[in-house]
Amino acid sequence: MANKIQAIRGMNDILPTQSPVWQYLEGTVKDLLAAHGYAEIRMPVVEQTNLFKRSIGEVTDIVEKEMYTFEDRNGDSLTLRPEGTASCVRACEEHGLLYNQTQRLWYTGPMFRHERPQKGRYRQFYQIGVETFGIATPDIDAELILMTADLWRQLGLQDAVTLQLNTLGSNEARAEYRAALVEYLNQFRDQLDEDSQRRLESNPLRVLDSKDPNTQALLADAPQLHDHLDEDSREHFNTLRAILDAAGVKYEINQRLVRGLDYYNKTVFEWVTDKLGAQGTVCAGGRYDGLVEQLGGKATPAVGFAMGVERLILMLETLEVIPEAVSETVDVYVCALGAGADQAALLLSRQLREEHAGLRIQTHCGAGSFKSQMKKADKSGARFALILGESELENGTVGVKDLRGEAEQATVNQSDVGPWLMDALV
Ligand code: ATP
Ligand code: MG
Repeated sequence: MANKIQAIRGMNDILPTQSPVWQYLEGTVKDLLAAHGYAEIRMPVVEQTNLFKRSIGEVTDIVEKEMYTFEDRNGDSLTLRPEGTASCVRACEEHGLLYNQTQRLWYTGPMFRHERPQKGRYRQFYQIGVETFGIATPDIDAELILMTADLWRQLGLQDAVTLQLNTLGSNEARAEYRAALVEYLNQFRDQLDEDSQRRLESNPLRVLDSKDPNTQALLADAPQLHDHLDEDSREHFNTLRAILDAAGVKYEINQRLVRGLDYYNKTVFEWVTDKLGAQGTVCAGGRYDGLVEQLGGKATPAVGFAMGVERLILMLETLEVIPEAVSETVDVYVCALGAGADQAALLLSRQLREEHAGLRIQTHCGAGSFKSQMKKADKSGARFALILGESELENGTVGVKDLRGEAEQATVNQSDVGPWLMDALV
């Protein structure tokens, strides 16, 4: 027998038992975004490789080691998107959504990075991303952060996440700081990890991001970015902090938070947790006022974030904060016993759905004994089983059995059963 074909390592199936939690999370986020006036945008999952090289930066983990890049049949270099911001900017620019207007957008979908698969780190993973364009003031930075804080509260995650906040300043301030950092690190060049030695030349701020403990220790006495901040960035940061303070959102200022992509300036932030081991960042973002211009558009202020859906789901599961109702997929299971009952069951179910919006009904198909149908009814998670047998068909009634209670089976007129269920299900 031929070997069975399996999924690509690090690329997961989301099984029917898991999807209710995904839908719950996505639904909660969508409602929250709708309540803030954000609109959805959907981009392709494949783009020209240069889009990511030019935006994320050549000397970053993503572009150096993580991209799924291939030649298509024309010989063009294409890449499976490793993140959404670059695609979103490309799409907005291409369709004229940025000139003389503001945008508040969101998207969700799979992203692809060739990383070592482990808990909370996959090669295909999902992000929900939010991007805003055309607003330079810190109120919008604050709106994004407040919105995420509200999301954690709605999901019951508020006590398990903390906010790390930093400002990267203007390009000029960073250039000045970069010189000071290089001068300092050059003294310890030989003691830095290999990536950091290389980056000291090409992209020294990336050294701050190093996961190597030895490099991190050397950074303890390094010059501080905030000593080189420009006045505008300082004021922007202070206003943002004042809004967060007024809203009661706590944060830690982390001057080494530079994020793994080159396009950020001013505000950067990460929501982190200690519940997921090394994969502790569940949501990350910041301001990228230079990116639109860098990709060929007119200078446009922008700020956004992305959250990792798998990591949030792992948190919901670890903290056991998924509401019970999330896994209840149907309210009613309709059993059909004997001649003509299958047809009657389908028609009754259809009529009930039409008359009672929101009523979730699974109709038994495939015949079988009373016992086996009741087993299926129980497994469906439904609260009630409706039973259509020969005598019910004759009398225009239906048997109603509470699958989660002690009550005896009742008999109800078919014409009354809809309102009866609606009453009982509230
Ligand atoms: P990390 O430091 O964990 O590698 P990152 O800085 O590379 O994260 P971003 O590019 O900021 O991540 O992506 C935003 C979010 O997407 C992350 O905070 C995380 O929740 C999620 N994410 C990133 N890479 C992966 C991955 N390989 N598998 C699952 N989720 C991921
Ligand atoms: Mg990463």
